[in-house]
Amino acid sequence: MQDRFIYIAGFGVEKRLLFATAKNVKEVFGYETRVSHISLPPKLGYNAMRGQYRGEEVLGYLSRIYYPNMLKLVALIAYDLYEEGLNFIFGLAQLGGSCAVVSTYRLKDTREEVFLERVLKETNHELGHTFGLMHCRDSRCVMSFSNSLLDVDAKSRFFCESCIKILPKP
Ligand SMILES: [Zn+2]
Ligand SMILES: [Zn+2]
Repeated sequence: MQDRFIYIAGFGVEKRLLFATAKNVKEVFGYETRVSHISLPPKLGYNAMRGQYRGEEVLGYLSRIYYPNMLKLVALIAYDLYEEGLNFIFGLAQLGGSCAVVSTYRLKDTREEVFLERVLKETNHELGHTFGLMHCRDSRCVMSFSNSLLDVDAKSRFFCESCIKILPKP
C-alpha cells in the first residue's frame, strides 16, 4: 500500500490537461498521483516590464505548500515564466527537492495532441530534476535540455536507461 503521492496542481490550465498529465506521471514514474488546483497570490513574482512571472519566486511559493502525504508537487501554470539572464523558461524544479513548475504558455500548438505531448515531456523533465536527475546527453531522453520547441519535440517523454537507473522506484 503506497502512501505518498505526486500532486499535479493546475493554475489557469484545463482540468483534462491535469488528468492526462497525472495518468502519464503514474505510468512513467510508477507513483500514485493526485490532481489539485492552486491559486498563486496576485502578481507573485510578476515582472510587468516583461509580462512574465519569475520562476524562482513561483517555486519558492510552491515549496511552502503541503498536501497530505505529498511526495512531490508539480504545478502546471498557464503563464509565461522567466529567469534572470534567460528570455523564458519552460519550467523549473528544485534539484532533489519536492517541487517543480511547468509553464504551458510556450508549449501551445494548434494540434491538441502536440500540445499535450509537450506538457507531458516538460512535466517529466522537471519531476526528473526533483528526483535528483541532471540533464542527459541522450537527445531522445526526456532529461535532455530543451532550448526551443524543436528540442522539446525531438525528445521522448521517457527516460533513457541510465536515467531510469537513478530514479527511485515507488
Ligand atoms: Zn532541466
Ligand atoms: Zn537520460
